[in-house]
Amino acid sequence: MEFIFAKKLVQTVKSDYPWFGVDYNMNIYRGCNHGCIYCDSRSSCYQVHDFDTVKAKQDAPIKVENELRNKRKNGVIGLGAMSDPYNYYEKKLKYTKDVLKSINKNQFGVFIITKSDLVIRDIDIFKSISNHSVCNVALTITTYDEELKKEIEPYSPSSSDRFNAIKELSDNGIYTGILMMPILPFINDSIENIENIVKRASEVGANYIYPYFGVTLRDNQKDYYFMNISSKLVKKYKTVYKDSYMCSSLNSKDLKKHFEMLCNKYGILYKMDDIINESKEFIKNKQISLF
Ligand code: SF4
Repeated sequence: MEFIFAKKLVQTVKSDYPWFGVDYNMNIYRGCNHGCIYCDSRSSCYQVHDFDTVKAKQDAPIKVENELRNKRKNGVIGLGAMSDPYNYYEKKLKYTKDVLKSINKNQFGVFIITKSDLVIRDIDIFKSISNHSVCNVALTITTYDEELKKEIEPYSPSSSDRFNAIKELSDNGIYTGILMMPILPFINDSIENIENIVKRASEVGANYIYPYFGVTLRDNQKDYYFMNISSKLVKKYKTVYKDSYMCSSLNSKDLKKHFEMLCNKYGILYKMDDIINESKEFIKNKQISLF
């Protein structure tokens, strides 16, 4: 792991799309060692060279504390959009943990995306944040099949460890769910995979599953992806999607229909507005029960 200099860590979100209600975004690390073959952060537009080497932003906790103290408006901070905040080195370095303490101290909310069960280490801080602000912790789960997981997300924790992390979070009263994306055409876009994920999500107490029945592919990211799938599949992708950026599963309509039917059956949310509203309701309900 290396350290790099970053002038500013907390960026204001300027987007019309309400991505989990985040007002700010932050990446404590650059690069990631989970090795997902489809990772969008490999795209050349982000200019992250040597993506598989994790670089921590030097003194991130101190800088974040200073930045948050000087913010005029509180809000929800998104962590994990470009690199996993619970990569292998976080266990020792604890930058994410220290940043969460600052978020809590300065009365901000948080939305985290990770593929690591290390996230449960910080349950106590999530509990404190939940008492005053939105605290939404999402685990990305793309496949129920552990053998396939090893091929498409080779150095990340197993899918079952991620489901167990959701259970732990849910049992501790933390608002939690699943990012079921990407669903890779011809790879994990089966009804069986979707069914297994939704059923297990319901058993572990996930509040929501947010899906994308396809994958986005561009330049460097696409090259890396094609290097890691069979030549037969590469040929299929080239025939079906040509140079498209959005590569939706050919089964996406059926998958979506089946997915929504299952979510409705198990009482799991899947629409962005509903998820945002429920994450806000969660604090109110907590405050009422505390009172
Ligand atoms: S965990 Fe996320 S950031 Fe890391 S390689 Fe996988 S998709 Fe990329």
